[in-house]
Parts: sequence; structure tokens; C-alpha cells
Amino acid sequence: MSQDDVSKKLTKLVDAEAQTEDPPLPEGRGKSTRAVHGGSQRRKAFNSLNTPIVQTATYTFGDTQELIDFMERKTWGDGDDREEYGRYGNPTVRAVERKLAALDNGEDSVLYASGMAAITSLLLSVLSAGAHIIMTDDCYRRTRQFSLTFLKRFGIETTVVRMGDYDALEAAIIPRKTRFIISESPTNPYLRIADLQRIAEIGQRHRVLTVIDSTFATPINQRPLDIGIDFVIHSATKYLSGHNDLLAGVIVGRADRIRGLRDARGVLGGIVDPQNAYLLERGIKTLGVRVQQQNHTAFAVAQFLEAHPRIERVWYPGLASHPDYDIAVRQMSGFGGVVSFEVAGDLKTTAKFIDHLRIPYIAPSLGGVESLIEQPALMSYYEKTTEERLALGIKDNLVRFAVGIEDTDDILNDLDQALSAL
Ligand SMILES: *Cc1c(COP(=O)(O)O)cnc(C)c1O
Repeated sequence: MSQDDVSKKLTKLVDAEAQTEDPPLPEGRGKSTRAVHGGSQRRKAFNSLNTPIVQTATYTFGDTQELIDFMERKTWGDGDDREEYGRYGNPTVRAVERKLAALDNGEDSVLYASGMAAITSLLLSVLSAGAHIIMTDDCYRRTRQFSLTFLKRFGIETTVVRMGDYDALEAAIIPRKTRFIISESPTNPYLRIADLQRIAEIGQRHRVLTVIDSTFATPINQRPLDIGIDFVIHSATKYLSGHNDLLAGVIVGRADRIRGLRDARGVLGGIVDPQNAYLLERGIKTLGVRVQQQNHTAFAVAQFLEAHPRIERVWYPGLASHPDYDIAVRQMSGFGGVVSFEVAGDLKTTAKFIDHLRIPYIAPSLGGVESLIEQPALMSYYEKTTEERLALGIKDNLVRFAVGIEDTDDILNDLDQALSAL
């Protein structure tokens, strides 16, 4: 056999195997099982257990007839059986999209190169000049910035309403103009919890699409689509990938809407690359055990800090002292891995406490295996004065602690010794 024959045979084999459809996982399988197996085909190319990294920028056609057949199928809204060009799709990326859809109980999902690429692509894909969107005030800073500055330039107006004020949210809707209600839960840094059911009901009553950034919760702790939300967004950079080694973002929702977003991604260009998609899938497989450990440690940290005389206040939705505790208990199956708190003292005392810690790294971000800590006054809000920060609700003594998967006792002991040093 010539080299060409061998490769032809191999291609046929690969195609045949990749097309073997498996019965989907039965409904009701647990979340960890879905994280490992959800959305994936049991038989993959080359009998590989793992999803192969299809590292290619483009895809070939054997001859002109094959090309014409594909173009015909595509014209009729089909053609999902193969890829055409790297910006439009990739089998490795597609495998992760199916897994993320399974995890969030959505029909389909679409992956992007970052969380912000997901958010901006959604808004750019759907909105036109003259449209209006509503956003809660605790939304991710860059999401707010994109809407209030970039979208404004295209004639799209944003109304920001206070988190928790559902009457104001409903009153802000402008008939036939408002297209999206965008919120986040839990939020950063105060872990405020949006009442997803109320938001979904308001959206449905007025035919406005609802979007929840569920990054802090992960599909392990909360599934907004089950409650009636239209789109779920995650920065997959955080818990989903889980290892602080890549950026990615995802939107999950109804199949027809996701198809539209995927087509738009082919124009806007924000697709994630196959290497990162592979690493993301690898990370997602351990999502269940990681998040359970992080839920456990964060709860223990919150309780420890709340009882500590050198801590003024703790923000954690699993504590009865949190303003949204009741909603959190109703809506979430775990309270997440981030704890925010105020140290008894000023900017310097708080910095000193952080510098005494031995386990967490000082860094933005969250959700990875390593604990990360930050003082928002010196990180995201450095350029502002104490007064300006206070006006934005950011105190100088505020600390955001995103726990990793280190042993709970080691983290508690580390906090204890750093507080003793004050
Ligand atoms: C990090 C983050 C984003 C942005 O995601 P990137 O992957 O950094 O682009 C959006 N929303 C929330 C809640 C985040 O934590």
C-alpha cells in the first residue's frame, strides 16, 4: 500500500468512529458524572480515551464534488457533520461545548477565547442601534464598562438598577426596546445573590431575554436555565478550567439561539483555540470534586473569620448574616469558594495581614486549585481615592479570598497566624 492509501484508510476509519453516536447520558445523572462523561462520545477517533486536539486552522475537501455536497447541505441549514474553517468550528471545541451544555442542563453551548469575548459577542450579536438593556449594579466591571461606553457609542442605552430591587428592574423595561436583563450571581466582591426566579419571571412577562453570569457559582452550585433564565455565561477561566492556566468563556442556552451565536462567532472571531479547549475539558472533568472542596473550605473560612475579633465583617452567602442568605439557601446547592471580609483596621493593616499569609498568592482571578487573595482597594480600584472607592462601596479594609483546594485546616491555620501578627 502506498502512503496515500494508508492515510485514506485511516481517514475513513477515523470518520466512521467519530460518527458513532452514543446514547446520551440519561437525564438525572449526577453533576460529577456529567463533568466527566457529559456530552462526550464514548468512542473517539483513534480509540483515544481523551478528546483529540485537532490542531488545524482549516479543513480539506477531497475533491470538488465533496465541496459542492457540503455547500449544498450547508445551504439547507445542515452540514454539521464536518468542519470548514477554524474560525467557524473545531471538533475539540465542539466536544467541550457539548459537555458544558450537559453540565448546565442547556440544549447547546458556544465557547469563546475569554469570558469577556463571550459577553461582548452575545451583546454585539443580538443588539441593534436604538436597543436598550438593563443591568444590575454589581455586574462584572468590564461588562458594565463595555455596555456603558462601547455600546453607548453604537446608540445602545444601558440602565443600571440596584441589585435586589426587582420593582426597579421591572420598571426600567422599555416596551419594544429592552432586549436583555443582565445580572450576575453570586457577585464580586460581596457575593450578592440575585433571585433568579424573579428575574426569569420578569423577563418572560415582558418578553425580554435574561442573562446570568454564573461564573462564581459554577453548574455544580446553581443551574439558572432550570429556573427559566435564557442564557448562562461563565468565564471558564475560573472554576471550569480550574488551574489558572487558560482563558475561555462560554454561553449556554436554547439550541436555536446558540446556533445564531455560533454563526456570529464566525464573523466576530472570538473562538477559543483547540489547545485551550482541550485543557478546559481536562479541567472540567474534576469540577465536581474541586468545587465541593472549595465550598467546604470557604464555608469553614467564613465561619472562622466571623468569630474572629480582628475581623469586622464577613460576606459569604452561606452565613445567616449575609443579606441574601434566604435566596442563597433556596437557589444554590453550595455557596461557592469565595469569601470576602473586612479586617479591623485601615488599608495598611489589611495589607500587612495579607503579606503575612503563606498559602494564598496575591493575584486577581479565582476558581483555580491555588488559593488567591486580593485587597480590591489596591487591585481593581488602585487608581481611585479612599473616598471614590467608598462611593463605589469598596472599603480599604476589604479582602477577597478565593480558596483553592489546599487542605481546609492548613488554610484556617494560615489565616489564624496572619491575624495574630496584626
Ligand atoms: C473573570 C470574570 C469575567 C471575565 O472573564 P475573562 O475570562 O477574564 O474574560 C466575567 N465575569 C465574571 C463574574 C468573572 O469573574
